[in-house]
Amino acid sequence: MMNKEFHLHDIVEMKKQHPCGTNAWKIIRMGADIRIKCEGCGHSVMIPRNEFAKKMKKVLVQANTEH
Ligand SMILES: [Zn+2]
Repeated sequence: MMNKEFHLHDIVEMKKQHPCGTNAWKIIRMGADIRIKCEGCGHSVMIPRNEFAKKMKKVLVQANTEH
């Protein structure tokens, strides 16, 4: 997996799926910590950026990056 680029509002897949059975997370906050929200149940978690980069598998849906 070379594409480790991610942006706000992207939907990403993590290496480990959420216990609810969904493996699609929306990035809802970017900073020193990344906050992602489970698309299945709405649960959100905050992860340090470097840890997120390690745990993220790939970007499923890229947010519109046009400015
Ligand atoms: Zn969930």
